[in-house]
Amino acid sequence: MAGEAQDDCLFCKIVAGTIPATIVRETETTVAFRDINPQAPTHVLVIPKAHHKDAAALAAAAPELAADVLRETQAVADGEKLDSYRIVFNTGTGAGQTVWHAHAHVLGGRGLDWPPG
Ligand code: AMP
Ligand code: ZN
Repeated sequence: MAGEAQDDCLFCKIVAGTIPATIVRETETTVAFRDINPQAPTHVLVIPKAHHKDAAALAAAAPELAADVLRETQAVADGEKLDSYRIVFNTGTGAGQTVWHAHAHVLGGRGLDWPPG
């Protein structure tokens, strides 16, 4: 069910603390941790603690929680002292989504090309 921890979900396990992560920030509803395969000097993932399969499902089922995630991307960027940065929600296999628990990538610390690949 939307929102409930999923036994087979990597990011639910990071929320539960059963898989380690380098946590950058945590709030009552969100966790931010460093991506294990960073694509930029700063590459942090911000996730809701509750399980939603992607950003669209999160926004539809829990818009206030989606807003919490967005606010936290800003807090991460401030904490990392990023003037320019990119927030990415890969949504669907064709867009490169590989983990089916909604997450925002916060990327910065280098120039970022547009359009992305
Ligand atoms: P996406 O491809 O948008 O679904 O993003 C999933 C991201 O999770 C990728 O950038 C992975 O490098 C990252 N990732 C996978 N496993 C871990 C992990 N155990 N800790 C931190 N980041 C991870
Ligand atoms: Zn999950």
